[in-house]
Amino acid sequence: MTEFNMPLILIVEDEPKIAQLMIDYLQAANYRTHHLARGDEVVAFVKHTPPNLILLDLMLPGLDGLSVCRELRRFSDLPIVMVTAKIEEIDRLLGLEIGADDYICKPFSPREVVARVKTILRRCQRPPEEIAPPSPLVVDEMRFQASWAGKALDLTPAEFRLLKTLAQEPGKVFSREQLLNHLYDDYRVVTDRTIDSHIKNLRRKLEALDADQPFIRAVYGMGYRWEADECRLI
Ligand code: CA
Repeated sequence: MTEFNMPLILIVEDEPKIAQLMIDYLQAANYRTHHLARGDEVVAFVKHTPPNLILLDLMLPGLDGLSVCRELRRFSDLPIVMVTAKIEEIDRLLGLEIGADDYICKPFSPREVVARVKTILRRCQRPPEEIAPPSPLVVDEMRFQASWAGKALDLTPAEFRLLKTLAQEPGKVFSREQLLNHLYDDYRVVTDRTIDSHIKNLRRKLEALDADQPFIRAVYGMGYRWEADECRLI
């Protein structure tokens, strides 16, 4: 792990010995640390250099830990661990719902602090965003070609236009009249039955490539809708 990747822990503690103990143990556990001894310096520091976690003492010169925590929560959801000298103080803090993620009571074992920091950082790590696989349907407008999962579809111009219209808006029901408007550039005498017949052929061609996939559904009395993934236009 390079230094750049190491999580930064901000220690806000006005007792130098306790602060040094935390610094030593956290650095030994591969964390970077920064130490502040005053409560009124925290917000400015966090805005400038957001740490991965804050260990925040309750009794501090300048501004108390409670107020610091509240101010931080106005603009940040970074993990905050409140450190207090009184065990009974924790119940009061919990009741205030100040938005801290955990509480540690003094005197504490530095190992316990490191263990808590690790646990909280793990919990707060956002799961990697799920990347949706690209749609298997590709519609190439320039070349008037379409493919499903890499297999080319041999479509008439009317089928191509129907496919493009429907698959650009999955789930939307298109009436036969709306589909007719997308069908031909020039004026032709067409009927609703024309659409049904094109849809039937288009479905047959799609299902020949993938029999398990529902592609186009007829919505009784209304029209048709695309049931598969939105197409990728190229
Ligand atoms: Ca203190």
